[in-house]
Amino acid sequence: MAERPGLDDAGAGLAPVETIVGVGPVLAAALGRVGLTRVQDLWFHLPLRYEDRTRITPLADLRGGEHAQVLGTIEAVERGFAFRPQLKVALRERTHTLLLRFFHFNRAQAEQLRPGMQLLCYGEVRLGARGLEMVHPQYRRVDPQVPPTLDAALSPVHPTTEGLGQRRLANVIAKGLALLPPEPELELIPAPLLRRCGLASLRGALLYVHRPPPDAPVEALMRGTHPAQVRLAFEELLARHLSLRSMRERVRRKMAPSLGGSGHLRRRLLANLGFALTGAQQRVVGEVLHDLALSHPMLRLVQGDVGSGKTVVAALAALAAVESGYQVALMAPTELLAEQHRRSFAAWLSPLGIEVEWMAGKQQGKARERALQRVADGAPVVVGTNALMQEGVSFARLGLVIVDEQHRFGVQQRLALRAKGDGGDQVPHQLVLTATPIPRTLAMSEYADLDVSSIDELPPGRTPVHTIAVSSARRSEVIQRLRTACAEGRQVYWVCTLIEESEQLRAQAAEVTHAELVQALPGTRVALLHGRMKAGEKQATMQAFKAGGISVLVATTVIEVGVDVPNASLMVIENSERLGLAQLHQLRGRVGRGSTASDCVLLYQPPLGRLARERLQVLRETHDGFRIAERDLELRGPGELLGTRQTGQVAFRVADLARDAHLLPMVQQVGEAMLGHYPQQSSRLIERWLGSALLYADA
Ligand code: ADP
Ligand code: MG
Repeated sequence: MAERPGLDDAGAGLAPVETIVGVGPVLAAALGRVGLTRVQDLWFHLPLRYEDRTRITPLADLRGGEHAQVLGTIEAVERGFAFRPQLKVALRERTHTLLLRFFHFNRAQAEQLRPGMQLLCYGEVRLGARGLEMVHPQYRRVDPQVPPTLDAALSPVHPTTEGLGQRRLANVIAKGLALLPPEPELELIPAPLLRRCGLASLRGALLYVHRPPPDAPVEALMRGTHPAQVRLAFEELLARHLSLRSMRERVRRKMAPSLGGSGHLRRRLLANLGFALTGAQQRVVGEVLHDLALSHPMLRLVQGDVGSGKTVVAALAALAAVESGYQVALMAPTELLAEQHRRSFAAWLSPLGIEVEWMAGKQQGKARERALQRVADGAPVVVGTNALMQEGVSFARLGLVIVDEQHRFGVQQRLALRAKGDGGDQVPHQLVLTATPIPRTLAMSEYADLDVSSIDELPPGRTPVHTIAVSSARRSEVIQRLRTACAEGRQVYWVCTLIEESEQLRAQAAEVTHAELVQALPGTRVALLHGRMKAGEKQATMQAFKAGGISVLVATTVIEVGVDVPNASLMVIENSERLGLAQLHQLRGRVGRGSTASDCVLLYQPPLGRLARERLQVLRETHDGFRIAERDLELRGPGELLGTRQTGQVAFRVADLARDAHLLPMVQQVGEAMLGHYPQQSSRLIERWLGSALLYADA
């Protein structure tokens, strides 16, 4: 357990919840299940969302997916048994009817509901097979003669658990809030820093979000943009920043083997490569080797666009470890990616007499046992998936851990692998590779425990792609251009980018375009590629395109990654205004791989909004994945870059990286100042927001 500051330092916040009047052992145990053990945990147990029971929505105005409060008269009650018992209640208000459905109910409840009775209901509106309905709404009977009394303010909904109802929880939180100390005692961000940020008061913010006053701006609170929420989001982001930074400091204080190496293996690899490193690769290799030679662990992220040549940087780092007599583990998130690395590494390292060991989930029985044995005996280079992290895998002398495509692993997994080589005070160095260019501000937050190196240059010989945006009104001109290009022997991708979730609809859209182009380009071989085709068919089509037997490939975004046809030099992207910049950048990366000049035509549906216009402009102006990502962040927020696609990410209570990205620069500034000058406040802030998560990180 982490050491906690004394009570005099922290005031009432650190007292156990049992000290609150009315909290006995049973309630305390229930609270404990949601992580609420101290009084301050109650203060910072913030509402997940709000329910608006201050007004009544007419049935005519209901929309699926929204929460609403409605008032109506029971028209009919039906007890049915479709698959399972259910109670259906038709609620009428003027000309509209809403169906209430209950799957869990008792007889008394069913008998209590009678036609003619008036109900006030709150719940989520869904679009059912026969119109709008609410499943298990909260309801109460009201007197038809008297207008119902409505709530005066929004009702907060707190995260909770079985056996701990909202009302009881709200009640304890209210008692906890009564113990809030005066502002100066509660506030942990030092006054001079706080003044610069112009943030709302912490005490006021806590009271406000737990119990919004009747005149609170509903929309802002629902969206999470109220100044009180911003204040708390800032503090939460700050706490996470501080915790990652101090985690880094703790690791940094440990010892690591100095992996200077003699350089003899690296020199041989470089001589065999057949190409020279780019300036950016040399610089990054230099940064990595410098860190490896130190006797404290390296914690470094290398980011570089697809094709920027990260693998060889990893191989050089690996050789520095091997030269020094230590083992290297290289971990990738998927078997496919890991397999690719195994092949690159084997091709480079076998000529140097170094065997590459393989460890993946699929490997079973004897093969696995033998691999485990060799790793335990000191096999120099091990490549694999997260099977490398499993129990039972132990290394003789692990000196360096390399993790590829880091953003698909979470912070916790990163820590787990780090722990693998943890022999007391000695820990392995860590190198993280990612192909997703992450804008600096975001990287400094997500990877605040790492140093960042950027390979911001592509190997020579790749010609920049000339990009233009063309209105779909001029589609026939574009097709004309295709004809000319094909006549010149160029090959073309035509990308159909229906946003529709269904692969079937996407395939259909591609089929329609395919038919159109076949007709418009007689004598030209036009083929189709989409996700619903059989694997064999896809491969055959791809092979034919690669061999030059097909001139135009009409495809869905399945070609986004891993397709490499250097002769393809023209790409048309339909509905480009609807794609994210990062995705457009990836797609465009399929052309410009050979020596001929390439073109990319971004077709768009007019009229183009200001934002869409700016985004297409960015693509026309630059090929730099980092700049594109920066602009994407500015224009749309980080959702696309990290957002939902990221797994294993630490969940926030109030903060939302997409919504609150603009706070990050300030978070970083305040964070650095606090770590430097106010270490005690820093650890109390971490403790306040991340108490239990921190204990896990320490484990
Ligand atoms: P990524 O950064 O996407 O992992 P890779 O490491 O797979 O990129 O490199 C892409 C391709 O470029 C590989 O075939 C690699 O051998 C090659 N390559 C890497 N560095 C250079 C260079 N400096 N000059 C020429 N080719 C290079
Ligand atoms: Mg790679």
